[in-house]
Amino acid sequence: MTFPEKARVVIIGGGAVGVSSLYHLALEGWTDCVLLERNELTAGSTWHAAGNCPNFAGSWAVMNIQRYSMALYRELAERVDYPMNYHVSGTIRYAHSQERMEEFEHVRAMGDIQGLKMTRMTLDEMKEKYPIGETHDLVGGLWDPEDGDIDPAQLTQALAKGARDLGARIIRHCPVTGVTRDGEGWIVHSEQGDIACDYVVNAAGYYAARVAEWFEPYGRPPLPMVVMSHQYLLTEPIPEIEAWSKEHGGKLPMVRDPDISYYLRQEKTGLNLGPYERNCQSVWTNGDMPEDFSFQLWQEDLDRIEDYIADAMERVPSLATAGVSSVINGPIPYSPDGLPLIGPMPGVKNAFDANVFTFGIAQGGGAGKVLADWIVKGAPDWDCFDVDPRRFAAWCSDPAFCKAKAEEVYGHEYGMHFPHMRWPAGKDMLTSPNHEALQAQGAQMAPYGGWERATWFAKEGDDTSFESTQTWKREGPWHKRVAEEVAAVRDGTGVLDLSGFSRFELSGEGAAEWLSGQIAGRLPKVGRMTLCYFNGPTGKFATEMSVSRWDEDRFTLITAAAARAHDHDLLAHPLAEGLTLTDTSESMSCLLVTGPTSRDILAPLTEGDLSASWLSVQETTVCGKEVRLQRVSFAGELGWEVHGARDDMPAIYAALMETEAVPFGMFALDTMRIEKGYRAWGSDLSPGYTLREVGADRFIRKDERGEDPARCLHVLTLDDMGYDPLPMSPIRQDGEIVGEITSAAFGHRVGKPIAMAMLPRGSEGQTVEVEVFGHKVTAAVHADGALWDSENERIRA
Ligand SMILES: Cc1cc2nc3c(=O)[nH]c(=O)nc-3n(C[C@H](O)[C@H](O)[C@H](O)COP(=O)(O)OP(=O)(O)OC[C@H]3O[C@@H](n4cnc5c(N)ncnc54)[C@H](O)[C@@H]3O)c2cc1C
Repeated sequence: MTFPEKARVVIIGGGAVGVSSLYHLALEGWTDCVLLERNELTAGSTWHAAGNCPNFAGSWAVMNIQRYSMALYRELAERVDYPMNYHVSGTIRYAHSQERMEEFEHVRAMGDIQGLKMTRMTLDEMKEKYPIGETHDLVGGLWDPEDGDIDPAQLTQALAKGARDLGARIIRHCPVTGVTRDGEGWIVHSEQGDIACDYVVNAAGYYAARVAEWFEPYGRPPLPMVVMSHQYLLTEPIPEIEAWSKEHGGKLPMVRDPDISYYLRQEKTGLNLGPYERNCQSVWTNGDMPEDFSFQLWQEDLDRIEDYIADAMERVPSLATAGVSSVINGPIPYSPDGLPLIGPMPGVKNAFDANVFTFGIAQGGGAGKVLADWIVKGAPDWDCFDVDPRRFAAWCSDPAFCKAKAEEVYGHEYGMHFPHMRWPAGKDMLTSPNHEALQAQGAQMAPYGGWERATWFAKEGDDTSFESTQTWKREGPWHKRVAEEVAAVRDGTGVLDLSGFSRFELSGEGAAEWLSGQIAGRLPKVGRMTLCYFNGPTGKFATEMSVSRWDEDRFTLITAAAARAHDHDLLAHPLAEGLTLTDTSESMSCLLVTGPTSRDILAPLTEGDLSASWLSVQETTVCGKEVRLQRVSFAGELGWEVHGARDDMPAIYAALMETEAVPFGMFALDTMRIEKGYRAWGSDLSPGYTLREVGADRFIRKDERGEDPARCLHVLTLDDMGYDPLPMSPIRQDGEIVGEITSAAFGHRVGKPIAMAMLPRGSEGQTVEVEVFGHKVTAAVHADGALWDSENERIRA
């Protein structure tokens, strides 16, 4: 067959992920696609992977991806007529603590929404299913009957056969050497020749950062990833396991012991032990990755994992009776949050990432579908922001940050992500101009899109330890301080340092007309601001920005800190010629001054017109510094956002702190915005929902609203169980799942636990049951709206 000169899509890399992407493009009818692999298929991480395939995931997107993979793998062999070793043996997860059990309950409940079959287990049930494991010191467990393991090479070959049968092409022994732009498309250069294509996919596994360098001239920041050395060992046959398999047929279930940090799986009649060790090893961090590491491994390093082996031997004593037959020590890529990158490449049009997989076998199937959906339909079916490459803004590419985070994530692969906890590595990457002042006031910082912000302000004697945050419960040392901060905002004035808004200045003749064409609703008049919603290509939520209009054709667009790269591309890619778009996220900063006395607090400091109405914007001064004063408050009280040059903010903050105003943090803001029914980007505002579902009706042009959706956001008040449900906690009525929580907190102004929830339209007035870490909590459903100041009298005062 001749080397192709053209293709619709070229995929670089023939591991499980690249091949699955090719297969899924072909399933969509995109068969004129080509995959180029430098060696044989699977030559990267895929050939030596252990092949474990779990459903369990804390991320909604990742759970969807893995669930899809498992369903695909169950039928793939038959579908493409390629027999494979895929064992569905089930997995038991051991819990050593109540908190671990609560984590299991949340993930199990989230899985219920996705149709998974996980159940909690008693110690007796665990012993019965896994008789060779000790359970006396455990708290409980979780059972997933659908977990299994697959032969990664056979999986890749099966996907390859499926793709080829549909007409797609795979060219092996064809190293790609670079790319160049060709209009809106690409020329992909390889050792066998050039291919012109519309889209290109970087699926180069642990070589993805190298491949990403070719895209840097076109706008891609360096790919944030680090390669780690990961090991598992295989034992000689174990008589007890041989006997069990003979008696019961098949394999023992796999066990995962997340609190210790390893898994144990039956391999033939021995065991496969895979730890994620705390004293882990990153590799090739000095640019010393060899040109080609195909089908290679490193020497075993058992010293690094000996504590884990010793622990596993106590848990499963028969492990101690067997010798080690082999050790696999291979490269595995890690991103700063441990999740893969699947979707549009940041900063570059018509190029996609499908790389940095730590569980690329379990996720390969789903990743291929998500990638194909991005290319063919413009967006995936599920909310995939957790794995969207644009969740990493350019600053995330800092090599020291990537290394610190990758090592932290690897060493805590099974770590629990408690809602009030911050992981310590990679601190202070982006700081407020008031960072030191805030810390001197007791601010407990956490990153929001990388920006350090105060979450709450501790007072002398408060417990600010890491340990105090190791809980799923609402209450901790922060709780009473948050209540005080809310009271201060409710009764007086609070000041929140809101550094790190993502901020874009748009100007040029025709800017208004162009922007109007991008949004679902109407632009504000000059001197006003409004929320603007952007629809995605499949009709789902793409983003929300607050838009301030300074002149006919001059705007500031402000969006969530985490949305920076995503929203920048959303604006920059379709930007009309002659318009200017500037990212001022780092040169400007913001203080929210809010509360019933905020007008009195600001009056002596500003030349601005504080009688200007709600949602007005003006260019004026505060403390003699030029600022933009925007009359809006996400806390739902009278208030103004003071936006100014970064260097001017310390003087303004210091002046405010000389008044009766008190500082408050993000925890207080979050409870207050839920009381007002204001949506948060990334939870209530999810690309899994449509604009109508998230209740953005007011921000959609009347004639474009279409039919009423079957479901929409509602507000809940919950009985108090001491826990706030996490997003995607299921809501049941008569035992049936009817919806899910999108965000929740204790509403200090209304004195109740409150939540926002996606429920069938018209659910208000009903009583539902929310599952919160395994507890069933009764909740009253209210219509979408504010529980506090529902007539907006306070914000308009
Ligand atoms: C010891 C170990 C155990 C593991 N166990 C599991 C497990 O149990 N379950 C699980 O889900 N995951 C596991 N993993 C992780 C899993 O192996 C990876 O996530 C997965 O293989 C990644 O697949 P991929 O297709 O993204 O990358 P790869 O398999 O690395 O494929 C990338 C391909 O790109 C090719 N390539 C690179 N550069 C070029 C170029 N310039 N031109 C052309 N081709 C190029 C490479 O040759 C390679 O074939 C394990 C990893 C290790 C190290």
